[in-house]
Amino acid sequence: MAPALSGTPVDVLVIGGGIAGLSAALAAREAGASVRLLERAPRAERGGNTRFSNGALRAVYRGVDDVRRLIPGLDADTLARTDFGTYLPERYRADIARVTEGRADPMLANIVVDESYDVLCWLMTHGVRYEPLWSAQAPPVNGHVTFYGGSAVEARGLGAGLVDALYAALEARGIGVDYGARATALVRDGRGVRGASVRAHDGEAFEVAAPAVVLASGGFESDVAWRTRYLGPGWDLATVRGTRFNTGDGLQMALDAGAQPYGQWSGAHAASWARHAPPYGDVTIGEKFKRDDFMHGIFVNANGLRFVDEGADLRALTYAKYGRVVMEQPGSVAWQIFDAKTMPLLSDDYRNPSVPPIRADSLEQLAERLDGVNGPAFLATVRAYNAAVRDDVPHDPSRKDGRGTTGLAIPKSNWATTIDRPPFEAHPVSFGITFTFGGVRVDAAARVLDAEGAVIPGLFAAGEMVGGLFYFNYPGGSGLVSAAVFGRLAGRSSGRHA
Ligand SMILES: Cc1cc2nc3c(=O)[nH]c(=O)nc-3n(C[C@H](O)[C@H](O)[C@H](O)COP(=O)(O)OP(=O)(O)OC[C@H]3O[C@@H](n4cnc5c(N)ncnc54)[C@H](O)[C@@H]3O)c2cc1C
Repeated sequence: MAPALSGTPVDVLVIGGGIAGLSAALAAREAGASVRLLERAPRAERGGNTRFSNGALRAVYRGVDDVRRLIPGLDADTLARTDFGTYLPERYRADIARVTEGRADPMLANIVVDESYDVLCWLMTHGVRYEPLWSAQAPPVNGHVTFYGGSAVEARGLGAGLVDALYAALEARGIGVDYGARATALVRDGRGVRGASVRAHDGEAFEVAAPAVVLASGGFESDVAWRTRYLGPGWDLATVRGTRFNTGDGLQMALDAGAQPYGQWSGAHAASWARHAPPYGDVTIGEKFKRDDFMHGIFVNANGLRFVDEGADLRALTYAKYGRVVMEQPGSVAWQIFDAKTMPLLSDDYRNPSVPPIRADSLEQLAERLDGVNGPAFLATVRAYNAAVRDDVPHDPSRKDGRGTTGLAIPKSNWATTIDRPPFEAHPVSFGITFTFGGVRVDAAARVLDAEGAVIPGLFAAGEMVGGLFYFNYPGGSGLVSAAVFGRLAGRSSGRHA
């Protein structure tokens, strides 16, 4: 890709090269603007959290025809053995409202829902391709797969495929990208934002003049001090699941320009994550530390006790809040326990040899091998759990089966099976932060608002930087889609503004 010249003015300057910034750059170019994108990471690590993502996309679809439009190559055999179901706007709205405990800003949520399918079609015009999202559905029954609804497709090549397709689209449209270029401040005058100060990887500082700036530089998940300041004590110990470059720069620049902080600044998407995983995501390894199959077993903490309903809801609607739950346990660690019946249901991530499980042929032996766990309490917990599992309801991982426990202080509401068939496995976990929920307030055109609710002329925001959409939790697959939706909006608005 041709390097842009330092200091050359442009119509629209985009800060951040994940899906939000890439979408903004393409939409601004479509609006006729000259565009330049600053990416803090070097080229080899470009793409932010988007690159680390699994590429799952939560969008409205009204049936198999909508899926076929996204995946034109679906063959007859796949269609015959798959029930894609539907994901209607009312259900998407309800899912966002439910998991955010009614706090999501309806204006923002409606935009995401209403534009979700269209934005996936638009991304296709920029080279993105899709596959059915098999990994997030129920295991096949007699060769037949039933989709849960929600995220039906993933980007081909996952997050890396998505990022590479979009960077290629920028290149094809002559949009210059500066790698290793860290925006450090917004340039402002009495009329609004006029560009940004930048520090290049060689230390050189320069300014880029632009009548419109799109901030798309992610949240503050990768900065230990910001995490502790806003999310609270304990969050300093988090492992970062994705990029090391999202350290709150864009948020700081926006706040300095008078932007209104918005949304849940004490909230973050965080999942249960293999203990002893590397401190940040590593593009050379890919994601092999996910521990999201907890619904097939139980969690215990160092006191040997369960602490959460592992079967409360479909995984996509619970996993993003269970990182915090693990963080709150003694030592911020826990163990996921499975037996021979449920081990085959675990994803390949559980077989990553760099973070092996603890294995045993009896529960007593497992209790002895669980270093740091109260063994007698652990055995009592498993006994009580096994005795509480309902055996009058069939186990069915293809849906919320209602096979729960009875009489436990902390129930397991679905997919409860006894833990009694050897061998047994315990997977040690801690918590991995994905992204932060607090951001700045934007209007329906992705323009950043100040404390009085007035538009800051020339300033736009998208992606993780937009506050007010997610609180406490989020529906899986809506991070990428909301970032693309607001990125496209920010690009269109900034293009028009410029
Ligand atoms: C392991 C993992 C799996 C995930 N899986 C999914 C999934 O399957 N589906 C889903 O919907 N979501 C998923 N997510 C969440 C999703 O990745 C994010 O919601 C989405 O990528 C956010 O896009 P963004 O463009 O706002 O941020 P990012 O993609 O993080 O991009 C921000 C960019 O800003 C750059 N930047 C930061 N500071 C500066 C600066 N000062 N100057 C210039 N550039 C800067 C960074 O280098 C980065 O490229 C996952 C996240 C992770 C970490």
